[in-house]
Amino acid sequence: MEKKVRVRFAPSPTGGLHLGGVRTALFNYLFAKQNNGTFILRVEDTDQTRFVAGAEEYITSCLEWCGISPDESPQLGGEYGPYRQSERKATYKQYADQLIASRHAYYAFDTPEELDAKRKEFPNFLYGQATRMQMRNSLTIDPSEVQELLANNTPYVVRIKVPEDEQVSFIDIIRGHVSFDTNLIDDKVLLKADGMPTYHLAVVADDYAMKITHIFRGEEWLPSAPVHILLWRYLGYADEMPHWVHLPLILRPDGNGKLSKRDGDRLGFPVYAQNWTDPKTGEVTKGFKEMGFMPEAFVNLLAMLGWNDGSDKEIFTMEELIRSFSIERISKAGAKFDFEKAKWYNHEWIKNAPSATLLPYVQAIYAEKGIELQPNADLSPVIELVKDRCSLLTDFITQSVYFFVSPKEYDLAAVKPKWNEEKATFFNAFKLVLNDELTAGELEEQFKALAQTHQLKPGELMLPFRIMLVGGKFGPGVFDIAKILGASETANRINNALEQFN
Ligand code: GLU
Repeated sequence: MEKKVRVRFAPSPTGGLHLGGVRTALFNYLFAKQNNGTFILRVEDTDQTRFVAGAEEYITSCLEWCGISPDESPQLGGEYGPYRQSERKATYKQYADQLIASRHAYYAFDTPEELDAKRKEFPNFLYGQATRMQMRNSLTIDPSEVQELLANNTPYVVRIKVPEDEQVSFIDIIRGHVSFDTNLIDDKVLLKADGMPTYHLAVVADDYAMKITHIFRGEEWLPSAPVHILLWRYLGYADEMPHWVHLPLILRPDGNGKLSKRDGDRLGFPVYAQNWTDPKTGEVTKGFKEMGFMPEAFVNLLAMLGWNDGSDKEIFTMEELIRSFSIERISKAGAKFDFEKAKWYNHEWIKNAPSATLLPYVQAIYAEKGIELQPNADLSPVIELVKDRCSLLTDFITQSVYFFVSPKEYDLAAVKPKWNEEKATFFNAFKLVLNDELTAGELEEQFKALAQTHQLKPGELMLPFRIMLVGGKFGPGVFDIAKILGASETANRINNALEQFN
């Protein structure tokens, strides 16, 4: 019988959450939901030198924003907790002891100074099969002396003893057959002097203890896989080893290398899911959320970075992704990140969203910008009218603020050269036609009929009318704007503008 699917997203709380990390979480989630499985959030905080306060809360909030909700997590708990590795500290030593007893690991007593000296002497120094017998460890020291050192609390680390001349081979579901030569792998530290496990030991111990069935993680972890596989074997759990799924990297727009936060800063787009404030420097790094992305669009565009359903379909809801996702359709090649394309997804989502969905976002953006709306201002029809002009939620401000705040400046250069007394007379007459009962279409008919009476071409009046209402050469249909503004506000704006135009 197939085991019940259990997958985990296992971030280290070291800072902002890169979009590649969110994609890893998403693929884990999709796979779990598709298979009625369990999606676990496990916080890998064993490296206390890299721990950053607030990062765990931040990761949780990013996942929540995206609708990627764990079934088990530090906050929710679960049958296999705790879900923070620092709280599992006591559970790891037994694995290290077991590996030492079976001679697959050893104590190393080399001091940091001794290791530094070695690295100075041999710049490519690797602690491993070629060098381990020249170092201070339980392979080179007499057993009784080892016991004495341990009894005296001499600081030590535990290292894996990587075998010589072996190929560690395994199947990665995306990459197929993968093989690593053990002669190129160093004896990684498993347990540190402070008693904390390293990532390598903790990840295997916890994936085993939490009954993980599939490991979805970024390709940058592929070189660690042989060490993990050796540990699965040496601990005697090889039969229960999860399936490996190393996801393709997300590349810079030009395809040269992995996309980093620095690339985003340089090229002016976000790389993190939400704004991240570095607690030490106070530096704020912009996130997709604050840049004006809808979470549905963000999830959609992430899914398409390295995956497709085999058709041309590009717009997917979370439910559709859960139904269509398949590991087999994840590509091996890195996926180039294109911010213009990212905005295209967001634009599609915005323009197809009902105004009721967009309303809270737009209200929040107005509030954030400190633009006060009249208490009875009705944003919904405005949103409906301008949404297909917005690629980012923040675009709603420029695309709609003129409905609520009358223009302070006019694009006079566009009006003045062709302005004359006849046009002014026309607009004064047009004010009298305005009536809240008229539809936008009827307003347009009246406008055109009146133009004819005044022997003016409607085409020459439309642009000045638009500039009167919004200040510049932008916005949706001018009669739609006038309809939403209402007769009295439209008349006021005509009056204000006429003072400037004449
Ligand atoms: N803690 C690792 C990270 O920060 C997890 C890698 C894995 O999933 O094995 O990405």
